[in-house]
This record gives sequence, structure tokens and C-alpha cells, in this order.
Amino acid sequence: MSANFRKKKCIVSSCLRSTDDGVKLHRCGENHQEIGKALGKSNITKNTYICSLHFEPSCFSRKGGLNPDALPTLLLNADAPSVKQCDVPHCPNTDAHVVFFKGRPAFAAVGNEIGADLTKGWICGEHFEEDCVDDRGRLKAGALPTLGFVTEEPDGTLTQVTVHTISTSQDSTVDLILSDDVVADIEDDCKDLEVRAENNKLRLELQKSQEKLESLRKTVKLLQDDLVSKKRKIDHLEAELRIANKAARHFEVRIVNE
Ligand SMILES: [Zn+2]
Ligand SMILES: [Zn+2]
Repeated sequence: MSANFRKKKCIVSSCLRSTDDGVKLHRCGENHQEIGKALGKSNITKNTYICSLHFEPSCFSRKGGLNPDALPTLLLNADAPSVKQCDVPHCPNTDAHVVFFKGRPAFAAVGNEIGADLTKGWICGEHFEEDCVDDRGRLKAGALPTLGFVTEEPDGTLTQVTVHTISTSQDSTVDLILSDDVVADIEDDCKDLEVRAENNKLRLELQKSQEKLESLRKTVKLLQDDLVSKKRKIDHLEAELRIANKAARHFEVRIVNE
């Protein structure tokens, strides 16, 4: 290989990162002129490299490639290496580290829980479960931040805060924010209800069985009564048969003696 082999690196002057810095490099491709305009540079070609740090999550395809019309908007100025600061208290993240999402009115209740306004500014991606983000890196409609919340104790130590969210329907933006205690109460109630429902089911089955037993008993009684009356009839007919036999023999004897 030639001695003046040049390592691939990001064209953004304030960045110049290579893959060694843990970034992914993308060719500017067909959109190179627009990207050049966005960077204020005239020397951008199809084969110029730019790293993934300069693009919003929505600029990437499902496979992680750059969309054909993607334009760099992040970390373009050396004097302002970070444009976004996370609104979650004590979160050190800037958009140099992780992806960011815009605050939403729907985050108000979570914000109240942790003493911050999360409705307008920026929140970093570390406060969202993985399934809050769609295939294209965008935050889903009903998504709520639930992770990485801490409170500061009077002695200055930080402790983790858990925020539970229950989505009232799949694509609803109305959500309930519940504390640990409330969740525990609800879980207890659910268990009670389950036990009660199971008992009710068993009671119903028992009642059905008892009714069936009762009806079988009645049938047996009817059949037994019938049997008794038929036996009596048989006895009666046997008695008549005996009398008739006796009479027949009497007449036979008389016929022989003539
Ligand atoms: Zn870069
Ligand atoms: Zn954050």
C-alpha cells in the first residue's frame, strides 16, 4: 500500500472523526451538493465522508444507512459543540453523546413527578425504553420517558426514581403516571379479584353438579316406584296363573275319571 494512504474521516471541520472514534462514516452520495450547502463547503463530492453524529435519527434508514435526502444539522459548529442539553435534572447528556427528542405536552405528568418541565425543550434518548422508538428512530406517539430519573437527597447523594406508566390504549397519548405504592395496591386488588373470580367459577360449577345430582335422584326414585308397581302386578298375575292351573288340573282329573 502507498505510504501516503489517508484514513477516511468526517468532513465537518469541528469533528474530523474516523471510524476509530466509534462513529459510522457515510458517503455524501447524490445529495452531496445539498450537504455542501448545509456545511457551507464547496469541496464536497459524492465520495466525501460525513459521520453519523451530524444527522437526526430520522435521517437514517432502517438498516442504518443515510436516507438519500438526509441533511446534516447536528454538531456543525466548533464553537458550539453541543446545541442540546437534556431537560431531565442531573442528566449529563448532550447531543454529542446520544440522540435527543423534542419535549411534548404529554410528558407534563412525568415532568411533575421529577420536578422538571419536559414539555418544550429536549430530552435525551436514554430516558426512553427501546420500544418507544420506531424503526426509523422517531419517538412513537404514546411514548413516555421512564428511565434514568434521579432525585438529589439533602446530603447530595443521588437516588434512582421509578416512574410507572400505563398506556390507556395503544395509540393514545393519554397516560397515567403511577407511583410504586399505587402500583402495589393495584396488583394486590388484581390478585384479590382473580381469587374471587376463581371462587365464583367454582361455586357455579358446584351448583350445576348439585342440580344434576338432584335430577338423577328423582329419576332413580321414579324408576324404583315403577319397579315396585310392576312387581306387584307380576305377583297378582302369578296368583291368577296358579288358580287357573289348579282349575285346569281339576277338570283334567274329572275327564280321566269318566
Ligand atoms: Zn463528524
Ligand atoms: Zn438525559
